[in-house]
Amino acid sequence: MKKIIIDSFLNLLFPPICFGCDKRLKKDEILCKECQSKLIYYQNDKIYLKDNVYFTDYISVFSYNSIVQNLIHNFKYNGFKKIGKFLGKEMAKKIMQSKFLPQINLIISVPLHRIKMRERGFNQSDILGKSVAQNVHLPYKKNIIVRTRYTETQTKLDIKARQKNVENAFIVKNIGLLKNKNVLIIDDVFTTGSTINEISKVILSAGGKRVYALTSAHA
Ligand SMILES: [Zn+2]
Repeated sequence: MKKIIIDSFLNLLFPPICFGCDKRLKKDEILCKECQSKLIYYQNDKIYLKDNVYFTDYISVFSYNSIVQNLIHNFKYNGFKKIGKFLGKEMAKKIMQSKFLPQINLIISVPLHRIKMRERGFNQSDILGKSVAQNVHLPYKKNIIVRTRYTETQTKLDIKARQKNVENAFIVKNIGLLKNKNVLIIDDVFTTGSTINEISKVILSAGGKRVYALTSAHA
């Protein structure tokens, strides 16, 4: 009862808004009906990397459009964790339908460099990874792989520059945990796949068996 009172008080002070279009919402949801209907589920039919692909398979939940862009922006830069919860659930649903879920032994997420971590206060991929792992009942480990190089934001780089940008940016901290494991990497957005591919490479070189990837959106 107390919680309900506090919640309705908070809703009065900060009425929930749609993270897609900023419209006021009656219920505590993250998207209005109209924005919900604009979400496009991604059909996994294209992988941009051609040579030297180190991951076995990859799936993504949404195609990147303006609604998904607003969702991820509000999650990543404005810290709305309930968006992470929503995306994590959708990602879990997606992987539960995949043929490779039974193969997976361990879930990890794309690490942030410690300086970025300090700036942002949280790692959005870590929140997604935890949420997926909870939903599918698989072990989740952080800090197995560390980002050792502070890389510039990749948004304006083409595929070659992105590959160069993440080259040797990751090291394995705990080799023992990866040996003979099939690992699922979680990230927010798949753009060219350079980051996921680079992490896959270090997982395999540390004795990991196979690597799969799951993201909330495909750009
Ligand atoms: Zn909306």
